[in-house]
Amino acid sequence: MTTVAIAGSTGSIGTQTLEVVAAEPDRYQVVALGAGGGNVDLLVAQAHAVGPAVVAVAEATHLDELKVRLPPCELRVGEEGLASLGAEAEVCVNGVVGFAGLAVTLAALGAGRRLALANKESLIAGGPVVARARAATGAELVPVDSEHCAVHQCLRAMAPDGPDRVARIVLTASGGPFRGRSRAELAGVSVDDALAHPTWSMGPKITVDSSTLMNKGLEVIEAHELFGVDYDRIEVVVHPQSVVHSMVEFTDGATVAQLSLPDMRLPIGYALAWPDRIGTPFGRIDWSRLSRLDFQPPDHDAFPSLGLAYEAGRVGGTVPAWLNAANEVAVAAFLDRAISWISIPDVVAAALDRHDGSPADSADEVIAADRRAREETRRLIERWP
Ligand code: MG
Repeated sequence: MTTVAIAGSTGSIGTQTLEVVAAEPDRYQVVALGAGGGNVDLLVAQAHAVGPAVVAVAEATHLDELKVRLPPCELRVGEEGLASLGAEAEVCVNGVVGFAGLAVTLAALGAGRRLALANKESLIAGGPVVARARAATGAELVPVDSEHCAVHQCLRAMAPDGPDRVARIVLTASGGPFRGRSRAELAGVSVDDALAHPTWSMGPKITVDSSTLMNKGLEVIEAHELFGVDYDRIEVVVHPQSVVHSMVEFTDGATVAQLSLPDMRLPIGYALAWPDRIGTPFGRIDWSRLSRLDFQPPDHDAFPSLGLAYEAGRVGGTVPAWLNAANEVAVAAFLDRAISWISIPDVVAAALDRHDGSPADSADEVIAADRRAREETRRLIERWP
């Protein structure tokens, strides 16, 4: 039995991880669950279903209720409590939303445990720090993000001593709900419009990121950090069907792609089982029904977030941390109906203009940069026209 800890268990990745584990009951055992702490009913139900030794909540708000309703287990509280799940099992699935996932990432890598990483923000904001944590313990990091999981699979077609045989990584993007619309046509879109993703069912933050293409921009930085490929060799192509999850082109011109129907349980199962595979199929293709696969270049005029992410990634240091923080604040303001959808990239660009040139040599510097970027972005939004 492989022991599994799930940070962010009540979110989209967490609940799907529990489905994968339930499908492979002889193979995986969930020993720790952690969440923000707001969704008490779901967390309690999950704990009764899997009987974890440890439950952690980031917020103490519902602590008294949890103490009464949880089955016998050790209850940990606060961001440190949630992060401690990183060291609690052989595999830690990090499905925490946003920058808050960095502590979980560092705890898992620091303890030398395998990290199944769905929290891309920790890698984007803390790239240099995460790289050092990986190198120090040699911990495995298997991406759960569908595109990077696809690239991870494609790279298995390469000899282990041939990393310079990668010509390009091609990340696919569904294009989100606003694909094909011009900048002018996007001026008045609503929160509900942005949350109506055509192919993937995900949480609200990543769904809005998908609609602006910032999600793809963050994934470009994520690919650079995960696979060490420079930005000139990472491309984005819009692929509305979300069946080709990403591709790797090698120096001899061969392209290897990973295909499946959009289902996050496949990348979750891949990260749990790697280098093996699970026996339960998720997202398998019915070739009698799949009739076409379309590809088109992204529209940088309508979706400037993608270009902002490339710029931030190329500068490096704490600029990607600023990009990520500014975007989280701007997306939250959009979901609160404080700014328009079309303002999201403008707010992020204005925040990046205020970057103070600070380095990203330690976790503390990254955390401080994240905090400053959030303050700057909130100030910008207060005065936003
Ligand atoms: Mg993705």
